[in-house]
Amino acid sequence: MIKAVRGTRDLLPPETALWNFVESAVRDVFRAYNFQEIRTPIFEATELFARGVGEETDIVAKEMYTWEDRGRAESDRGQSLTLRPEATAGIVRAYIEHKMWDRGLNKLYCIGPMFRRERPQKGRYRQFYQVDAEIIGPASAGSDSPARDAELLEMLATLLDRLGIADWTLQLNSVGCPNDRAAFNEALRKALQPAMAKMCADCQRRAVTNPLRVFDCKVPEDQPIIETLPRISQFLDEGCRKHFAAVQEILKAVGVPFVINDRLVRGLDYYTRTAFEFTHGALGAQNAILGGGRYDGLSEALGGPPAPGIGFAIGEDRLVMSLQETAESVLKKPDVYVAPLGAGMNGEAARLARELRRHDLVVDLGDENFRLKKSFETATKAGAKYILIVGENEVKADAFALKNLATGEQISVPRTELARKIVE
Ligand code: AMP
Repeated sequence: MIKAVRGTRDLLPPETALWNFVESAVRDVFRAYNFQEIRTPIFEATELFARGVGEETDIVAKEMYTWEDRGRAESDRGQSLTLRPEATAGIVRAYIEHKMWDRGLNKLYCIGPMFRRERPQKGRYRQFYQVDAEIIGPASAGSDSPARDAELLEMLATLLDRLGIADWTLQLNSVGCPNDRAAFNEALRKALQPAMAKMCADCQRRAVTNPLRVFDCKVPEDQPIIETLPRISQFLDEGCRKHFAAVQEILKAVGVPFVINDRLVRGLDYYTRTAFEFTHGALGAQNAILGGGRYDGLSEALGGPPAPGIGFAIGEDRLVMSLQETAESVLKKPDVYVAPLGAGMNGEAARLARELRRHDLVVDLGDENFRLKKSFETATKAGAKYILIVGENEVKADAFALKNLATGEQISVPRTELARKIVE
């Protein structure tokens, strides 16, 4: 038997209704903030991610699905391609390719699958889904303003509240500018030197290549050492300190609670200033529902003009997992099961179903070959609220037997009143 590839999975009904519920809420909420959808390819030149995510990251070093795409003709050269492991690099590429700075400030979002060869576990897949949003544009359009950071964070708080996710925590930090980080990295290297030998193998490597990433370490024995390390907050220049203070000021003004987590870092050179994560208590080890931050230097790293930006990626799989409790209310069952009774009744039943669907009712339609008992069983299994019997007598009278499957109550209802009666 051929099975789904390790780390991938099928999303089946009724759970897919939850995904649709999340995506409609996302589109509704983002609409109110004037975000517009962008769709970029799910594969790109490998080079884009090497430069846009960073060679040293786990994603690029170990987790990408990359292949050599052979050309089909002389004019069609082969090249190395990669399934996107995240969305920001592709969106910034599109920003540059389509000279989107002409539009001023761009507020963009996309929803779709991402691919990383991680070790699969609960809440961690090799194909997973993200809702991604970015604000990017020339500084003259205000793209570097702390007002944009706060707007994005407030939008996320609104979305999570709207989805009924109550116990989220917004963790906030500033990772400063490249200059601040150079000084911080230097201080980290110094502080790590005497302690390094006692730390895990990953940290020993990080201490040399990218000391900031030591803060990602989850090994319990390393934590006391990490607690004593210097923090980026001690190294922020005045501009970055002011920017961070302004973000916090606005969040307080709009009433979005947050905690400062000065261990929260993003390791790449072009990540700047605001970094954040929303976590959720019920998710266990993989408790980050979403993460994001500023990347004021990314466009330049990809060969574009200066274009400050800030964005986030929500893990849709985890968001849906944290929604399971509210699932019942979201799942839409049929309002009515229309059961044709006897030969020649399929047409009449279809006509009725068509009328009812025009009234926005969810209608399941049976088959005249089903005996009444089988129609009842099918309707009950589908979770329909009513069953509507369409037999010869009913058609003649233009009134139909409507039975409430929960209470067992049955009444005869004229055609013109059916929709109203069912909605009641
Ligand atoms: P990142 O792009 O790594 O900052 O991740 C953003 C969000 O995507 C995380 O907070 C997770 O919710 C989600 N995510 C990342 N990797 C995976 C994965 N392998 N499986 C499921 N969700 C993921």
